[in-house]
Amino acid sequence: MKFGTKAIHAGLEPDPTTGAIMTPIFQTSTYVQESPGKNKGYGYARGKNPTRVALEKNLAALEEGKHAICFSSGMGATDAVIKLLSPGDEVITGDDLYGGSYRMFTKIFEPYGIKFHFINMSDASNISQYVNDKTKLIWIETPTNPTMQIVDIEACAKIAKEKNILLAVDNTFASPYLQNPLLLGADIVMHSVTKYLGGHSDVVMGALIVNDDKLHERLYFILNSCGANPGPMDSFLVLRGIKTLHLRMERHCYNGRKIAEYLKTHPRIEKVYWPGFEDHPNHLIAKKQMKDFGGMISIVFKNASLEDTFKLASSFNVFALAESLGGVESLVNHPVTMTHASVPKAEREKVGVVDNLLRLSVGVEDVEDLLEDLKQALG
Ligand SMILES: *Cc1c(COP(=O)(O)O)cnc(C)c1O
Repeated sequence: MKFGTKAIHAGLEPDPTTGAIMTPIFQTSTYVQESPGKNKGYGYARGKNPTRVALEKNLAALEEGKHAICFSSGMGATDAVIKLLSPGDEVITGDDLYGGSYRMFTKIFEPYGIKFHFINMSDASNISQYVNDKTKLIWIETPTNPTMQIVDIEACAKIAKEKNILLAVDNTFASPYLQNPLLLGADIVMHSVTKYLGGHSDVVMGALIVNDDKLHERLYFILNSCGANPGPMDSFLVLRGIKTLHLRMERHCYNGRKIAEYLKTHPRIEKVYWPGFEDHPNHLIAKKQMKDFGGMISIVFKNASLEDTFKLASSFNVFALAESLGGVESLVNHPVTMTHASVPKAEREKVGVVDNLLRLSVGVEDVEDLLEDLKQALG
């Protein structure tokens, strides 16, 4: 089955009691048992809920995986992956990471004795020098947030396999429409479902997708023990959102390309980060592992102070100034004060997250209106 058909049908069956074509919202905390321990596969809703199960089957199909587990947020999903580790274990990860992941790794898990190496991953061969007996996990994000570096998933998987290390990929920016890390050798895919999968800026949710049965069992044990489970209403909203994922992604990519090309030659823009440009350092890897280049673009505003940048960020009519991404609406974000406020200045400037950088999440509006809005704001 091809992607669009799976987005609409995978994991979903008409409700057996009524024939309802949409999976009902099973708004229940518990399930009646016939006799002690004898139930219909559902005991208590922290562990399992039928609306969530339908969504998990759908997500597994979209990522070409065997199992999916949904969490109450992307961070809840990431938290579960790190909880696979023990004190003394080491993780190799990128130096241009989602700010919340960086905050969790350094502020929550380093005090528990887990060591994180934040390195430049745009050349995967950099990884090998940090590998030792204690390395248990490689955590990558590609494209990275916000400077759109591309990490070679296949090359990372090769290193991870050789050394028996788990490879997890935060696939939020690409979405399963553009990139399927499990097919490239990754062990775990993480999504902030909040973004492209939900797609309508109305749900916070996360997910993990894996192939290995044992790994699935361990992650599910963590979900059920620690309790970062999403509710049935949110599961329903995401099921609904995913039905148009392929259509939305096509438009995000189309609009993204038009806008990246427009900004690249604009006299007030110093730099545009977008993996679709042929002069992007890892353009060929992006081409190899992604179906298209997405709607995430970062720009550096030429000779601009922090005040100038604030002024630009506040002068849009269609783009809304907000955190988050991947929804139908176009958003503009100032990483330094918003998504990356928890990353120290020296760390973020090393990777180009400067005061005059803005990140655009290009939505699915008519591109003429978006271009007009950029033109007036930059003017
Ligand atoms: C938003 C985001 C997260 C965190 O997900 P939440 O659903 O907000 O908890 C993780 N990684 C990336 C790349 C994100 O954009």
